[in-house]
Amino acid sequence: MNRIAKVAVDLSLDREFDYLIPDELISKIEIGSRVEVPFGKRHVNGFVVGLTDESDFDELKPIGKVLGEKSLITEPVMELARWMSSYYLAPFENCVRSVLPAVVRRKAHGEKQQLMVSLNVDEASRLVLQKPEHVAPANEAGSLVYEGLTEKQSAVIHCLEKTNSMLLSELTVAAETTASPIKTLEKKGLVTLSKESIYRNPHEGVEILKTAPLTLMPEQAVALKKVIEAMDAEKPETVLLHGATGSGKTEVYLQAIAYALEQGKGAIVLVPEIALTPQTVDRFRARFADKPERVAVLHSSLSDGERYDEWHRIRAGEAVIVIGARSALFAPVENIGLIVVDEEHEPTYKQDEAPRYSARDAAVMRGHRENCAVVLGTATPALESYCNAKSGKYTYVDMPSRVDNRKMPEIRVVDMRLEGQRDGKHGLFSKELIYEIHARLDRVEQTMIFLNRRGFSSSLVCPDCGYVSECEHCSVKLTYHKARNRLICHTCGDERAAPDRCPECGSKEFKYSGAGTEKIEEVMAKLFPKANIARMDSDTMRKKNAHRELLTKFRLGKIDILIGTQMIAKGLDFPNVTLVGVVNPDHALHMADFRAGERVFQLLTQVAGRAGRGQVEGEVIVQTYTPHHPAIQFARRMDFDGFCDQELAFRKELFYPPYAHLTCITLRGKQESLVEKTGESLFYYLEQAVSDEVMLSPLVPAPISRVRGEYRYQILMRAKKTGVMTHAVRRAVAAIKKWPKGVKCTIDVDAMSLL
Ligand code: ADP
Ligand code: ZN
Ligand code: ZN
Repeated sequence: MNRIAKVAVDLSLDREFDYLIPDELISKIEIGSRVEVPFGKRHVNGFVVGLTDESDFDELKPIGKVLGEKSLITEPVMELARWMSSYYLAPFENCVRSVLPAVVRRKAHGEKQQLMVSLNVDEASRLVLQKPEHVAPANEAGSLVYEGLTEKQSAVIHCLEKTNSMLLSELTVAAETTASPIKTLEKKGLVTLSKESIYRNPHEGVEILKTAPLTLMPEQAVALKKVIEAMDAEKPETVLLHGATGSGKTEVYLQAIAYALEQGKGAIVLVPEIALTPQTVDRFRARFADKPERVAVLHSSLSDGERYDEWHRIRAGEAVIVIGARSALFAPVENIGLIVVDEEHEPTYKQDEAPRYSARDAAVMRGHRENCAVVLGTATPALESYCNAKSGKYTYVDMPSRVDNRKMPEIRVVDMRLEGQRDGKHGLFSKELIYEIHARLDRVEQTMIFLNRRGFSSSLVCPDCGYVSECEHCSVKLTYHKARNRLICHTCGDERAAPDRCPECGSKEFKYSGAGTEKIEEVMAKLFPKANIARMDSDTMRKKNAHRELLTKFRLGKIDILIGTQMIAKGLDFPNVTLVGVVNPDHALHMADFRAGERVFQLLTQVAGRAGRGQVEGEVIVQTYTPHHPAIQFARRMDFDGFCDQELAFRKELFYPPYAHLTCITLRGKQESLVEKTGESLFYYLEQAVSDEVMLSPLVPAPISRVRGEYRYQILMRAKKTGVMTHAVRRAVAAIKKWPKGVKCTIDVDAMSLL
């Protein structure tokens, strides 16, 4: 019997303290319970993250009481946290934390209801302001006092006069007072206190009109039928919906969700980076706009208060459709009918801190446990999903054509090596691209230029001595940002002033190599002085609503050419974009990652999908120095199957995913020799612990061998089943008796990035 609870107290979220569970509470306390515990001289609220029967501390204090009826975590979500902990080798407490937003854990109020104070307008209108006899400046009504009321009480009335009602908690702050004058006012009949749940609406001011379901195209109708079959099945299945960009996947999701609602069930929709795709969210909100409270949105740019409210609306069963990024998968929707993972191939579904879970894989798991169908939608399935579909583990549905049979854009590959030979110099843009942009400007159509590298140039090189500016803390080159005249490390964020002469030889000449979006914008502005040009990357999009504003301008045609990083690659639907230029996707191919080809193929397909979504056909121009690379050639021919065949052959030969699961162990620390030594002993113990089902690669420096001053070493393991690897890792880590202080170790199961 577990007699000790690990409690994360509200004061210090990231630490937990052990408490005894008194007899009378033993049946009431579970993981996820909200409790009140003694803490120093006071009592604070906290949240049970673990149960155990031993503690490193003597003389534990007992838990005071349990707050609220319901645990914050539903049973199935708790099960999911357990699965994550064992599959991804992450501490259970850690997983429990990930399934609850921080603000919900912290503000573990027993009830979501809060006290609301309303002004009794009739009564209050009879109040008379006293003549300002001594102090108050006459123009500041706020400091005037009412006859028969104290200064504090008057301040409360003044605050309420503006809004008529306020939350008690907000009112005490606004009136700079405590609850006591408000209670007195209640006795006087001037205000009323009521329990109310007032939700902050993150979409206030955004007007949304309800849309009706569209008549489905034949392929969509088949897809919807299969999804509904999967939902109705005794054992609901996972469906891989492989639909070209513009094939109308979203419409299929919407109608499947409507079906779930008819069955009295809810739905969760995951999208990769919600802040970047306000359009998608709007489409969901619009479809269910007759009862907008049914839809909850969870994403990173919500304020804490908004997130708290959205979460509690879900927990209370008011919101049953949840749209959000990765962690929305853990939304406490009860009775789920459908989970959609849109753009399932996106690497952002993998969390890059512990627990390093894949929201896509965890979604499939949640579907199994809660008996609900899961739809993985994408134009370019991850090879893992594709294989699962081909092997019959998932149901495969494809929608190869665009809605209304609009043609897929033609993709032209321009060999920049030839361009260079022809002109004797390496320009940034090919003649073709420039010509086609002119044509778009003449026809008042829009162009998108895509380059996955922000900044002005990826390195500053001295032509005289060959000096290259590198980060002091990381083994990467610094990127030159011209507008700010600074060199910035895109790995650690460190920045410094750009030198005006070479630090090595003093030369005043610098060469910039590897253009970034900032440079593209500058050159474009010179080439097309009359065009309206805008840039969208993480440098220009720092402000909260910057995306939405810029995209609205683009939609309204106020921008002719939009330049951007991957932010513009996905999910955007602008009918007037008829040309997409892709500048040098090659450097992604040179990355030390076995998925590089897959990434480039996906990227080109996604980017191409931005063109020709309206009446006019679209066109894509890809400028590259490696025109014959299979990823580029298969993308040009839009030949997904062809790409898969050759890529899968290579993966199979080398025993890489999807033919194996992969675990990446990274050790890091400031002292290189210590990191290496620890890595070697870990490798030694791993060798002892692994069975012959595991392919263990020796310890090597990571591709980015230093980050933020820490040296990094890696061990890769591959096996058909993850369990045999995690088993060995547990044993090897335990075998190292004393783990050196200066060395940190991360274990990434099903790693997406090996850098
Ligand atoms: P995807 O998500 O597959 O890229 P979308 O769902 O964004 O495709 O659909 C592309 C466009 O086609 C959208 O503007 C959408 O409103 C429209 N559309 C989708 N389905 C239909 C349909 N059945 N009839 C008419 N238009 C549709
Ligand atoms: Zn030099
Ligand atoms: Zn750095």
